[in-house]
Amino acid sequence: MPLLKDEALCLALRPFGKTSQMVVWLTARHGLVTTPVKGAQRPKGAFLGRCDVGYLCEVVLYARERGGVRNIRECTPLALRERLRGDWRAAVAADYACDLTLRTAQPGMANPALFRDLGELLETLPDCSPHEASLALLWFESRLLHAVGLGPDFTPCARCPATPRRLFSVEEGRFVCPHHPSRLRTPPTLTLHDDIPALHRHFLGRPLARLLAEARAADRRDDLGRPEPFPGVFGLRRFLGVFLSAHLDLPPGPRRTALDLLIS
Ligand SMILES: [Zn+2]
Repeated sequence: MPLLKDEALCLALRPFGKTSQMVVWLTARHGLVTTPVKGAQRPKGAFLGRCDVGYLCEVVLYARERGGVRNIRECTPLALRERLRGDWRAAVAADYACDLTLRTAQPGMANPALFRDLGELLETLPDCSPHEASLALLWFESRLLHAVGLGPDFTPCARCPATPRRLFSVEEGRFVCPHHPSRLRTPPTLTLHDDIPALHRHFLGRPLARLLAEARAADRRDDLGRPEPFPGVFGLRRFLGVFLSAHLDLPPGPRRTALDLLIS
């Protein structure tokens, strides 16, 4: 039977029957892949310890595919990222990012940008201080939305006078004004300050390491003394929360937990 070799990030492990697991992967070339692993939890199972959330592995898969499910023949860990498991904050952040990826990536559709961004995040999280990890998650959320084609359109209306605040339609993912009215009868809208789209664009234009270096160099604080590495970071955090739950049908709990635990 034909085989495929690919690199894969482990997103989730789910129990399947008494001794088996379903492993969900984001692969470099085949998008989201789910592999049943028989006997994964048996003490002598060949697969035991071969993968966990956050691992980068080389996998050999059977080419036959049904609804994103493929059988796996071999799994060789390339990066174990043990430090993700030694630091609970990094582990919470990694779990949240992997779950978000699982909910947005598509089976059979390679998404090189998403694969690269998630790998970069998982590689960097163990070295982040708590508020840096929170910033890293906002960076990842912004880029994930863009990578899966759900990014907000922050193009301002050319006919409206320049203003620091504009009305944004969450569901339509764009600004609304008299020239570009909403098509919805009662659109949920947010008033966004200019610094939110500006920071979102800033995140899209930078690798994570560079963003964190900028944040360290800036050493800014807000009026309450909280680290605020960039203007608009709290506004963007709120905006992404509303936007993600509207577009991805996310339960609000895990995101709040991931971001709150990191800040406290
Ligand atoms: Zn206008």
